[in-house]
Amino acid sequence: MPERPPLLMIPGPIEVSPAVLQAFTAPPPGHLAPRLIEAFGSSLEMMRRVWLAADSSLPFVVAGAGTLAMEMAVANLIEAGDRTVVVNTGYFSDRLTEMLRRCGADVREVTTEVGDAPSPEQVAEALRPTGGGGPVKALFATHVDTSTGVRIDPEPLAALARENGALSVFDGVCATAAERFDMEDWGADVYLTASQKAIGLPPGLAMLLVSARAFEVRANRGSTAPPMYLDWVEWRPIMEAYEQRRPAYFSTPATNLILALATGLGEILAGGMEERFALHQRAARNLREAWLSLGLTPVPVRPELAANTLSALRFPAGVDGSLIGRILEHGVVVAGGLHPAIRTEYFRVGHMGYAVTRPDMLESTVRAVARALGRDVPAIPAG
Ligand code: PMP
Repeated sequence: MPERPPLLMIPGPIEVSPAVLQAFTAPPPGHLAPRLIEAFGSSLEMMRRVWLAADSSLPFVVAGAGTLAMEMAVANLIEAGDRTVVVNTGYFSDRLTEMLRRCGADVREVTTEVGDAPSPEQVAEALRPTGGGGPVKALFATHVDTSTGVRIDPEPLAALARENGALSVFDGVCATAAERFDMEDWGADVYLTASQKAIGLPPGLAMLLVSARAFEVRANRGSTAPPMYLDWVEWRPIMEAYEQRRPAYFSTPATNLILALATGLGEILAGGMEERFALHQRAARNLREAWLSLGLTPVPVRPELAANTLSALRFPAGVDGSLIGRILEHGVVVAGGLHPAIRTEYFRVGHMGYAVTRPDMLESTVRAVARALGRDVPAIPAG
């Protein structure tokens, strides 16, 4: 038997469940195989339940990473000259801004200090009509910014967008299926993610749900169509065919990942979404206590801003990035800093998906960090 690789506790990719691994390593089905069609169709149906989305919303699953899901949202909705607002909480919000600018959008960023999140009042101000520019077409925000561990509250932002006649688009790559997101109740228009985080799969799928009203915006756009692989109009009939359990082809799906997706979403939904959110909340709370007892302070500046999917932790005085290598010597992979303003000052630990169902994995992680710091191992409260 090969030696088990170290425990993967970065904020994605993550450890996957044995059942997901089994589905992923099955002999590859063709894209028209009955078991593939069934897995694809049931995955699209389950996505609406995981996203708490309306029956009228449109699910898309495309081979690619989270950046592709972001690109699809931007390319379908935004045309040159459109006014947009980005709620910026870190590295991945910067990426959204850059994408929007490349589409020729007029981008207004709402910013704050690293580790904080802009207030709804600041966002309301940015959404207000300006003299010559016309109304804002869409508001973009990152649900959990993986570079800072900051979680925003999407509900008031989606409401503000609606009040101002704008669409709302949320990047859920480090949040979807772990942090509460009620797409239908909150009236959000796009919620996008990728397979390698709280969805619980290896990397390789871009996933998004699109409201009927957002799809209309794409369908009615005046100028050129988006690039073909990104275009919701190309993909919609394919997704509808799979939901109706009919074969279809536009571009080859990542068939083994689709098998794994049906398994992974089934696991998430087995106990219901409330239980899934609570599992992540409990794991995060217990880990937070352990980090505090080890003298590690979080990057998010207030407790309510701290995500349940990862911990971004400042190195204590006298400790530097070599800590990450020492944690690995104790069998656990954690991630370094990502936000350019504080890159060398902190490290990140992921706690989402399968790992939050495995107290032993969380304990091993705390033990490895404590030993690497040369500290006594704190107890993690059970449950
Ligand atoms: N948005 C967020 C919040 C992310 O965490 C990531 C990946 N870490 C991305 C977007 C980009 O996803 P990918 O690396 O799969 O392209």
